Amino acid sequence: MSETAASETKRETRPFEAEVSRLLAMMVHSVYSNRDVFLRELVSNAADACEKLRQKALSDPALAVESGSLAITITADPAARRLTIADNGIGMDHDELVDNLGTIARSGTRAFVESLEEGADSNLIGRFGVGFYSAFMVAGRVEVVSRKAGAAEAWRWTSDGKGSFAVEPADPAAAPERGTRVVLDLLDDAEDYATEATIERIVTAHSAHVPVPIALVLEGG
Ligand code: ADP
Ligand code: MG
Repeated sequence: MSETAASETKRETRPFEAEVSRLLAMMVHSVYSNRDVFLRELVSNAADACEKLRQKALSDPALAVESGSLAITITADPAARRLTIADNGIGMDHDELVDNLGTIARSGTRAFVESLEEGADSNLIGRFGVGFYSAFMVAGRVEVVSRKAGAAEAWRWTSDGKGSFAVEPADPAAAPERGTRVVLDLLDDAEDYATEATIERIVTAHSAHVPVPIALVLEGG
């Protein structure tokens, strides 16, 4: 490998903020169960990202989005035990991935951990502003590939939820043109979340009022 190529491989690993680590440990070993809520939380983040783009486009004509083009796509691959939630909303740049998904203390994290310790149900996670982490109730590894609207570069965030996460440049050709893709490698006992019937049931029950169309795509065998 040439020196230039080596220096371009900038993978950074960072620890989660302490409260986040505590929350993740509780989620992973969790009996606080309605695990279904993870999908509502990821779909809600995808819809928020679309709404943010819509808002930003009002004052920044360069971002203009064609009405009706915003969409959320859920892709399930039961054979690979993989579930992907993608949106073509605002996206995140490098610093936003690092800050939003692990480093900067989110005010609700401690309050949510305390409420779990007091016996609250994990169903409440979204109310504390820490819904993203519910992905680790069902996934042993989470990958987030994102491209901020208008940016040339894309970034990949990965974690197994055990104390740290990594961020590195993503191949722009393999990244979303705009927006975010969250890929879940489902745990053995969560493989059901890659099946059509289960996804449809949860989306109907929990995401019926999302103002962005949701498509379901089945891959694999
Ligand atoms: P909340 O949605 O209540 O802010 P979350 O834990 O669900 O809390 O998400 C944390 C943050 O990560 C969001 O506020 C947002 O900035 C960012 N984020 C998560 N998912 C996405 C996404 N699909 N697109 C853009 N930003 C996202
Ligand atoms: Mg959220």
